[in-house]
Amino acid sequence: MMSPHIVRMAQKRNPKTLKPSLIVHGGAWNIPDEAVDDCRRGVRRALEIGWEVLMGDGEAIDAVEAAIVSLEDDPTFDAGIGSHLNLDGRVQLDAIMMDGATLKTGAVAAVERVRNPIRLARAVLEKSEHMMLVASGAEKFAAAHGINLVNPDELILERERTAWRRCLEDSHAAEHHLSHEMGTVGAVAIDTGGHMIAATSTGGTCCKFPGRVGDSPLIGCGCYADAEAGGVSCTGHGEGIMKIVMAKMATDLLHDQRVLVHHRKKAGPQSLAQAVADACVRKLAHRAHTTGGLILLDSDGLPAAAFNTPRMAYGFVEPEGTFKIAP
Ligand code: ASP
Repeated sequence: MMSPHIVRMAQKRNPKTLKPSLIVHGGAWNIPDEAVDDCRRGVRRALEIGWEVLMGDGEAIDAVEAAIVSLEDDPTFDAGIGSHLNLDGRVQLDAIMMDGATLKTGAVAAVERVRNPIRLARAVLEKSEHMMLVASGAEKFAAAHGINLVNPDELILERERTAWRRCLEDSHAAEHHLSHEMGTVGAVAIDTGGHMIAATSTGGTCCKFPGRVGDSPLIGCGCYADAEAGGVSCTGHGEGIMKIVMAKMATDLLHDQRVLVHHRKKAGPQSLAQAVADACVRKLAHRAHTTGGLILLDSDGLPAAAFNTPRMAYGFVEPEGTFKIAP
């Protein structure tokens, strides 16, 4: 017999009445004025691409993949082409995609020869019995499933090589990065059938130790999706986000909001989704003493974003269909 909760979910998820939802981000960081337009353009393009899929009754998984591919292909962001270089001067990419219905996940880490790691994460999600593959094993899986392996140099921009050289000569500093200090990307979508998908893709941090993996591809840290609670994608200082398992923290709070009651009374008529996003960023600051942000959709598709960096690049589709873009 179905539990009352599942019955309620099924009623909410009537495909005839369900509106799709989409939220994307291009990282929480100190985005300087001169990079704002590029960030807004990239976020808008990703939203348009994903939204077109959802409005055509397409699936959340296709919408999220298409939105993230456009962000990976945009050199404004630290994902796919244009990613930061590690200490060895190489690009090592991480990505994850999670299915909110089954909790099955596909994650890849430290891949160097895949132009769009989100496509590989999706292949792991759909075609592997495993949840996470790394480095040469992930690339072997890519080749076996029709994903082209590219020359790693194709992912490196001269801009990043220059920043990397400056970091080595001096010490690692955001100022060396010509307005491109961070910029992990992510997306969460719910389609007209009620299917929820969340995903994150990143080049990680500049000058990271070879083999370093941050929060982004780790289930519950940089991404989580549970259709009974919500879908989340995080960005920011990976080592801090891992300490508080931020994406899972958000879905736990969405699922059981009792600990937020006191805060919500003070915050006034704020949505639960927004209260949860704010609570996660507060925890990141107070418990891990660091910066970052997150986007989420609750199980009804209500969006929220929060960050404690000067700016965050993100956008979502408002209930009446208009695009809200930040910064
Ligand atoms: N969270 C990413 C990492 O630590 C970086 C970012 O979001 O900008 O790899």
